[in-house]
Amino acid sequence: MQALNFPPADWQMSLKNLVSDPAELLALLNLPAEHLPAAERAAKLFGLRVPREFVELMHPGDINDPLLKQVLPIDAEFIDKPGYVADPLAESQARPVPGVVHKYQDRVLLILSGACAINCRYCFRRHFPYEENRISGAAKDRALDYIRERTELREVILSGGDPLVSSDKRLEELIGELSAINHIERLRIHSRLPVVIPRRLTEHLERILSSSGLQTALVLHINHPQEISDELTDACQRLRRAGITLLNQAVILRGINDEVEIQVELNRALYRSSILPYYLFLFDPVKGASHFDLSEPQAQALAAQMQAQLPGYLMPRLAKEIPGRPSKTLIQVTPAD
Ligand code: SF4
Repeated sequence: MQALNFPPADWQMSLKNLVSDPAELLALLNLPAEHLPAAERAAKLFGLRVPREFVELMHPGDINDPLLKQVLPIDAEFIDKPGYVADPLAESQARPVPGVVHKYQDRVLLILSGACAINCRYCFRRHFPYEENRISGAAKDRALDYIRERTELREVILSGGDPLVSSDKRLEELIGELSAINHIERLRIHSRLPVVIPRRLTEHLERILSSSGLQTALVLHINHPQEISDELTDACQRLRRAGITLLNQAVILRGINDEVEIQVELNRALYRSSILPYYLFLFDPVKGASHFDLSEPQAQALAAQMQAQLPGYLMPRLAKEIPGRPSKTLIQVTPAD
């Protein structure tokens, strides 16, 4: 019998059709071609990738748009500043088998996919060797064996790249295998894909997540309130009603979200979309992105101002990751005078 060919889901069409040419991005936003040579140069370091849905959330004609600045390659990426390195979290030392990153006691991270829907210029994994670390075929079996053998584990985190780049079918299969492991209770998915293509939160995915038998959290990555579209809000509210916990982790980025008004509005907008603020991370010192960094005292001052305006449950935890520590390191926030 001839195999049935199902058309790819809409979100997969969006992934195929994303913007990867700097000239096209500038033209879509009515921006002058004077920005093109730098964008083309820096795109050779780390390619441009941005879904059209995300471009639609940007303000045409504004080269300082906070969403555009997260994706537009610029010459500052060539600055080689001491202390900014290819693997700032030393993840290469925490990979017991390909595709597995094991840093903390009761949880383990699986690198499901090397691809993302969007290339964020500040990504701490912009130099990550994904080709050696994707779990498929024999690597997937080894990764699952690793989890089965370690009965101290309670949680599996699907990460990437972006794990939601994987098809629902692949996710369903993997989640089924994880839920069959007795000691695994919790599933966490770290993804930015629903932010940049909200249609990725399909009803089918919702059913997979809500019926797995695992306590499930989707951790989104939203840095600015302008990233929260009505479509994303609708999809998140639906997932929340289906019993999925929705959390957000953001990164403090110089020139993008380092003002108190933006942070306050971000955390209020998250809650309106049924997403709870979780972490506000200090920038990880990755090579090629030092221009986004804000010092720790500056971040503390920002968080203190946020704390004065937000109720405790809307205040994300200010944190940083120090390689080798058994958990994230929380940074103290002293109340503003
Ligand atoms: S979506 Fe996440 S993993 Fe992908 S480039 Fe952006 S920050 Fe990095």
